[in-house]
Amino acid sequence: MLTKIIREEQIQKAKKYVEKGGSFVIVTHVTPDGDAIGSSLGLYHFLNECGKDNISVVVPNDFPSFYKWMPGTKDIIIHEKYPDFAEQLVREADVIFCLDFNEPKRIEKLAPAVIAADGRKVMIDHHPNPSDFCRVTMSYPEISSTSELVFRFICRLGMFDLINKKAAECIYTGMMTDTGSFTYNSNKPEIYIIISELIKKGIDKDLIYQKVNQVYSESRLRMMGYVLYEKMKVYPDLHTAVVTLTNEELDRFRYVTGDTEGFVNLPLSINGIRFTVFFREDKDYIKVSLRSIGDFPCNEFAARYFNGGGHKNASGGEFYGSLEDALATFKKGLNELNPVKFEELKDHN
Ligand code: 5GP
Ligand code: MN
Repeated sequence: MLTKIIREEQIQKAKKYVEKGGSFVIVTHVTPDGDAIGSSLGLYHFLNECGKDNISVVVPNDFPSFYKWMPGTKDIIIHEKYPDFAEQLVREADVIFCLDFNEPKRIEKLAPAVIAADGRKVMIDHHPNPSDFCRVTMSYPEISSTSELVFRFICRLGMFDLINKKAAECIYTGMMTDTGSFTYNSNKPEIYIIISELIKKGIDKDLIYQKVNQVYSESRLRMMGYVLYEKMKVYPDLHTAVVTLTNEELDRFRYVTGDTEGFVNLPLSINGIRFTVFFREDKDYIKVSLRSIGDFPCNEFAARYFNGGGHKNASGGEFYGSLEDALATFKKGLNELNPVKFEELKDHN
């Protein structure tokens, strides 16, 4: 028996929406990751199994190919490719599930349609400080993935039996990717009770690991080598490391979406490094990824300097300007919100 994390009144309201609703749209955040896709498709397969036949998963933009083996990915509608169709679905939905994001800004160009829609909106998410745009806001930052919350949500509806193998595979994928394959945010025993139930549903967890983590191109691995050898700057005194990649460098290694996944984590394997930032040039901005170990809140750093946010130990943001300026902002940030000073302050208190 799992602890009842989600509040009962939220379950009851959402249950009514599920029972009465005829058309459903599930939306998730821009540049969807494994948890975004996994939680959305997990819920999608569950609603299908409930007998609902009008369910769409709508994402703002495309996602990495190593998630495209997940059952249901072919039915996902990408707003960037089909804006009118996607917005029509959102407009006409009885119920809109907002998964793995806490504020409309995170769905970028899809936001106006979702905000304006009349459908009942239900947020299921684990990012801190949710904004108030849904009728039901299930926000539980202490839970390590939205996919886990989807599992818990279905169980609380009393419909565990309707989790089929497809849903189980998607839910497991989200739980796995948001915990770095159960290497962080993964000490809660109930995670493993859930995994045990998912295995009983027929998933092959070892195969899922392979499908997500062992399908990269040769050029991606070479790019990783280049990053480690030439592009990683380590500041031991600051317990910090930084990596940058320009458009030219990405082209040189034939970059495709998802190729730099995990690069931000690499410097954390150095003894003493507790904060890492990765800057990647994109079309018209610089994508910033931040990670920390321990108490240093990299989401605060992302919010202050890079117009972003996320979790305490994993966050992201963006910078409009040159890579040099982004690095200058980063250095200024380190002076003000310094991981070493932060740790000293913490020890002092
Ligand atoms: P990643 O570095 O893998 O893109 O993102 C890490 C975490 O930070 C994820 O939980 C993601 O939801 C969050 N995140 C990434 N980019 C942004 C952003 O621009 N704004 C906010 N608020 N969160 C972000
Ligand atoms: Mn997540």
